[in-house]
Amino acid sequence: MRVVLLLGPPGAGKGTIAEALVGRTGVVHLSTGDMLREAVRQGSAVGRQAETYMKRGELVPDPVIVRMVEERLQVGAGGGTYLLDGFPRTLEQARLWEASLGRQQARVNLAFLLEAPHELLVQRLTGRRTCRRCGAIYHVTNIPPKQAGICDLCGGELYQRPDDLEETIRKRLEVYRRETEPLLRHYERQGVLVRIDSSRPLEDTVAELVRYLEPAARES
Ligand code: AMP
Repeated sequence: MRVVLLLGPPGAGKGTIAEALVGRTGVVHLSTGDMLREAVRQGSAVGRQAETYMKRGELVPDPVIVRMVEERLQVGAGGGTYLLDGFPRTLEQARLWEASLGRQQARVNLAFLLEAPHELLVQRLTGRRTCRRCGAIYHVTNIPPKQAGICDLCGGELYQRPDDLEETIRKRLEVYRRETEPLLRHYERQGVLVRIDSSRPLEDTVAELVRYLEPAARES
C-alpha cells in the first residue's frame, strides 16, 4: 500500500484535484470531509457527533477521525495507492495514525502541499457548489455545470455546503493556520513534502501531480 497525502488550506482544490487524479492514475481517493458528510446524511453515530463541529467550521475530535480512517484503510486496503484528502489535519492525528500505519508496514510516501493566495481560496470557496447526490464539485464561474444547479454527472441537485458561507470560511482558514500548518514541518522533516502551486488552471496542477504519481517517478 502506498500512501499519498493532499494537504493544503480549504479552497486549495484538494477535492477537485483528487477527483481528476482518480480518473488519470487509478489512485483510491479517501476524503474525510466526504466520509463525514455521508455519515451526517445517514444519521450514524459518527455523523451525529461530527455535525455540530462541521457546521461551525471546527475540527471533529482527533480520535473519531483517526478511527474512521483506520477502519477504511483496513477494509480492503490492497497494494494500491491511497490518496488522502483532508487528513491528517492535526499533529495528533498524524502521530496516532502513523503508529497504526507502521503496524501495517506502511508509511506516508508523499505529502503534496497545495498552495494558493488567500483571496483565491476565499473566491473558490464562496463560489463552490457540490452535488448532493454524488459529491462532484463545481464552481459558479470557474467550473460551471452545463445546466445551472444540476450535476453533469448524475443529474443530482447542486447545493452550497453550509460551511462554505463567508463567516464559516474565515473560521476554517484560521483553524487551518493554527491546527494544520504545524503538520507541514512534520512532513518536511520526513522528507516527503512537495509544494505544488495550485493557483494555476486545474489541468496544469493535475498534470504536475500525475508526473509525481507515475511509476517511474516513485521511489522504491
Ligand atoms: P473538508 O471537506 O475536507 O473541507 O472537511 C469539512 C469539515 O469536516 C471540516 O471543516 C471539519 O469539520 C471536518 N473534517 C474533515 N476532515 C477532518 C479531519 N481530518 N479532522 C477533523 N475534522 C475534519
